[in-house]
Amino acid sequence: MHENMSSLLAGVQELASNWFASLDKRPVPASASADGLRQVLGGPLPREGTDPEALVRILGSAGMKGTVASTGPRYFGFVVGGNLPASLAADWLVSAWDQNAGIYILSPLVSVIEEITGAWLRELAGLRPTMSFGFVTGGHMANFTALASARHGVLRNAGWDVEADGLYGAPPVEVVVGEEAHYTISTSLRFLGLGANRVRRIPTDPQGRMSVPHLAEVLRGIKGPCIVCAQAGNVNTGAFDSLSEIADCAKASGAWLHVDGAFGLWAAVSPERAALLRGIELADSVATDAHKWLNVPYDCGITFCADESIHRSAMSLPAPYIVATGNQRDPHEFVPEESRRARSVPVYAAVRSLGRKGLADLVERCCRHARRFAEALGGAGFEVLNEVVLNQVLVSFGTAEQTQRTIAAIQEDGTCWCAGTVWKGRTAMRISVCNWSTAEADVEQSIEAMLRAASKHAR
Ligand SMILES: *Cc1c(COP(=O)(O)O)cnc(C)c1O
Repeated sequence: MHENMSSLLAGVQELASNWFASLDKRPVPASASADGLRQVLGGPLPREGTDPEALVRILGSAGMKGTVASTGPRYFGFVVGGNLPASLAADWLVSAWDQNAGIYILSPLVSVIEEITGAWLRELAGLRPTMSFGFVTGGHMANFTALASARHGVLRNAGWDVEADGLYGAPPVEVVVGEEAHYTISTSLRFLGLGANRVRRIPTDPQGRMSVPHLAEVLRGIKGPCIVCAQAGNVNTGAFDSLSEIADCAKASGAWLHVDGAFGLWAAVSPERAALLRGIELADSVATDAHKWLNVPYDCGITFCADESIHRSAMSLPAPYIVATGNQRDPHEFVPEESRRARSVPVYAAVRSLGRKGLADLVERCCRHARRFAEALGGAGFEVLNEVVLNQVLVSFGTAEQTQRTIAAIQEDGTCWCAGTVWKGRTAMRISVCNWSTAEADVEQSIEAMLRAASKHAR
């Protein structure tokens, strides 16, 4: 063991604590330029080693300037989420333990924690208790893994073993997606040989919800293997596809129903919002993130599948040296990776530290903050482009140029951070509230900064 392990870790603890203490006061964007960071961190490949304590000080000081306060309370860009204290602490233990979460015999602890956590999440999300699950790196890989299961399932029904025989000569698989499907659905389809563009795109309504009559009509024309991809939580508007109606259409035509619920799935824990997910229990596969709205550190997503044998067939990697461990669960059988991090542990910590009630509070609080943003900006005369059903708000500050200039001024100001987007052809600023630590005062302070910028650039 490193002779000064304990002083090394104490030093890290101090650096991390100082960094956390700065989060609330510092401007949200990074203060260092890329060149500044290269100067501090780069140079020629070191010939001699650096003492770990000195190294940690270099990283700690670069981290003060080069990081974005995206885990802080006033970051509303993209859809990111923060770091619950219990999850961060658990993540430190995960690094210390350095367990290989692939198979039970390599870490009984992690295998059992994953089994418990997956079951808890299934229940929280209102999924069927028989669904199998796997912990992957994020929403993208959760979609990929689920769609690999879907590909296996629909082709098996057509008498074809895609894992053994590949796609050459296989019955064609039709994939139907909403016009507003997240782009990681397209990249996943690409990886799976199903083609990003070989899909039928269903038009969506002004909120981004798939048109069910169009879907029904398209499905009536499809006879062979078919996968339908629906969405719970649009990344711009937060809107939900009508899952129960879509599930009825998919079942009637024998199609596989996949639901991308990267952040929206967690609306299920809120009694006020759970109705948005009506029908989710009918999905054949579901993808979600833990590192967004569940507020655990990167990287963590979860994939669920209604049929465990299909899920295993699509993912498992038989190898002669992997001995069967009786009834114990080998986590690698449900994910693309073999050796991997114990990423279920911070999720276990999130669920255990907050409980169902605390998670519901987290979700409801974020939704309330989003409503407040919409009311304040709408009240000041700016157009809110979406129905604020969840944690996402789209606001226009006038013309595309006025909106872009206002966003740039808000980013420059540094009190909070939001990015631009284009929604149905309109340039907008997107506000995503998904951090556990965002308080009412943060929202008010951010609204002031937004209105200050808008008063200069939007009129
Ligand atoms: C973020 C997101 C993804 C991708 O998730 P990653 O964790 O970034 O890989 C997929 N779908 C939706 C709806 C998302 O919001």
